[in-house]
Amino acid sequence: MITFDAVTKRYPDGTTAVDALTLEAPTGEITVLVGPSGCGKTTSLRMINRMIDASEGQILLDGVPVSGIDPPTLRRGIGYVIQQAGLFPHRKIVDNVATVPYLLGWDKKKARARAMELLERVGLDPALAGRYPFQLSGGQQQRVGVARALAADPPVLLMDEPFSAVDPIVRTSLQDELLRLQAELNKTIVFVTHDIDEAIKLGDRVAVLRVGGRLAQLADPKTLLSE
Ligand code: ADP
Ligand code: ADP
Repeated sequence: MITFDAVTKRYPDGTTAVDALTLEAPTGEITVLVGPSGCGKTTSLRMINRMIDASEGQILLDGVPVSGIDPPTLRRGIGYVIQQAGLFPHRKIVDNVATVPYLLGWDKKKARARAMELLERVGLDPALAGRYPFQLSGGQQQRVGVARALAADPPVLLMDEPFSAVDPIVRTSLQDELLRLQAELNKTIVFVTHDIDEAIKLGDRVAVLRVGGRLAQLADPKTLLSE
């Protein structure tokens, strides 16, 4: 469970990106942060894994303030997926997915076996494992990005507009795949999007933010649907 307890982020230039945000992201659920560009979604996400630190308030991971956990330790338990998959261009797909297991010192064979298993799970043709990122479509690269984030089996997955850059048909299939994966894996997922339909489809709970970084509404997606 991730808890935002009155979290505020002010950047050095005076911009208040997130304003007294209080929010819970329960284990096993997809919590969606939705709102227009500039409402503080990315900033909120990056405070969870301490790419950015809060100015006020605190974020707790299973009751422990993240401010007291050193970032490398914290990030071992947190997968992170961004809009452009951010794959290493000079590494084969299988090695991209196995990056974290290699870093953790896993046996190379075991790391690769794990990578192949994950590629299958995210619906990527295993025949693509030996290719390089530029040889894959945008949608395929996003699947690899998700597999890579899951490689060390982190309990938490942060996703920042992961499907926004792919075409609508592929996006739908990636969304379906994520829901299937989550039904199996029961991660704590925080998913950022500016697309309300995506929020309703994926979210177990949906936090609507508005520019200035304030929480406008915390909703069950079914009630959003009926409005
Ligand atoms: P979103 O992800 O919802 O688009 P962001 O978290 O990226 O929103 O940004 C929230 C607000 O903070 C915006 O006004 C943005 O311009 C500002 N901002 C983001 N990063 C910085 C930064 N490093 N320095 C100053 N302002 C920033
Ligand atoms: P996105 O909308 O995908 O979050 P942006 O183009 O808003 O991407 O931001 C890209 C990078 O620039 C981020 O690292 C963000 O923190 C930073 N950034 C965004 N707005 C500002 C700003 N007003 N001043 C300084 N840095 C910013």
